[in-house]
Amino acid sequence: MKLSAAIDNAMPELVAIRRDLHAHPELGLDETRTSAFIARHLEELGYQVATGIAKTGVVGTLRNGTGSRSIGIRADIDALPIQEETGVAYASTKPGLMHACGHDGHTAMLLGAARALAERRNFDGTIHLIFQPAEENAGGAKIMVDEGLFDRFPCDAVFALHNEPNLPFGQFALREGPIMAAVDEARITVHGRGGHGAEPQATADPIVCGASIVMALQTIVARNIHPMDPSVVTVGAFHAGSASNIIPERAEIVVGIRSFDPAVRDELERRIRMITEAQASSFGMRATVDYERSYDATINHKAETDFLREAAIRFAGADKVVDLARPFMGSEDFAYMLKERPGSYFFLGSRVTGEEKSLHHPGYDFNDDLLPIGAAFWTELAEAYLARR
Ligand SMILES: [Zn+2]
Ligand SMILES: [Zn+2]
Repeated sequence: MKLSAAIDNAMPELVAIRRDLHAHPELGLDETRTSAFIARHLEELGYQVATGIAKTGVVGTLRNGTGSRSIGIRADIDALPIQEETGVAYASTKPGLMHACGHDGHTAMLLGAARALAERRNFDGTIHLIFQPAEENAGGAKIMVDEGLFDRFPCDAVFALHNEPNLPFGQFALREGPIMAAVDEARITVHGRGGHGAEPQATADPIVCGASIVMALQTIVARNIHPMDPSVVTVGAFHAGSASNIIPERAEIVVGIRSFDPAVRDELERRIRMITEAQASSFGMRATVDYERSYDATINHKAETDFLREAAIRFAGADKVVDLARPFMGSEDFAYMLKERPGSYFFLGSRVTGEEKSLHHPGYDFNDDLLPIGAAFWTELAEAYLARR
């Protein structure tokens, strides 16, 4: 069967799958219904199915021919703690939870490819379709890798995509090298001494000290990091105090940190700790820093990115394929799969009107018109990678 025909046939089913997943969002590592849904679907298509990897992760394996080559394609399956405001008929049935990042669409696209690959059997080797939990919070990719993902399911290369409402519809945006940043979080507590707002001399005011820390943190990217090394230090929360006549006991500051270069990442942590402690000390106070390293940077490999680019140009035409001049400062735990195996991660644009809501917005909805594109592209990519020789 021609690929376009196979995908056309599958479209009503793909839309139904996507909307069913959308109506039943589940948070990271809690995707039990989603996981069972995926496993059932893959089994019906004749895949060998492994479940329970990183709790709710699923891998579907399909072999054909005698070839020893293998490819892994990942879809993330989790949702977000956001109250949906799309008003669509298939909106989330769970209060406070929604698929606001399009992982319902990523999952449906990969299931669409699963069907086309199984029906066509136009490859020689092994395909592992990796359905990964907890991309948004707990780092499901790293958990899967730590639980032996690539020992159990050896992949010569791995690929993944993310829909992107800020890029034109159907555009393939890729990049060799860094494409998504590393992300870390610092929780700073300024330990003051509270008291009456009219008696500041008898207190140690953690708000003034905290404000000074916030301002001093702004100098790190501006003054300590090389101008050509992308990095971000964002104070995303500052909690202290309750009324104008009270000096509180403590202040809490939460900082988000993004970078690419491991040396820059170390320097950001070092300077945040140093500034925080020295600023507090200059006020005669103490401040503690709880520093947590989260996802590593997502770094695409050259050969696999070249392969991806060629496949995308064949599939969509050169005018639909761009090499991103700059990486995004967001983060992605596919980073951990790319640290174990060569591969590439790219964005698939979904902007049509320009009115689309961004990812993680309560009004966001995955554009179903991407389903046939993603499903057909994954099929072609896998078939090209495992082409008969
Ligand atoms: Zn997201
Ligand atoms: Zn996402």
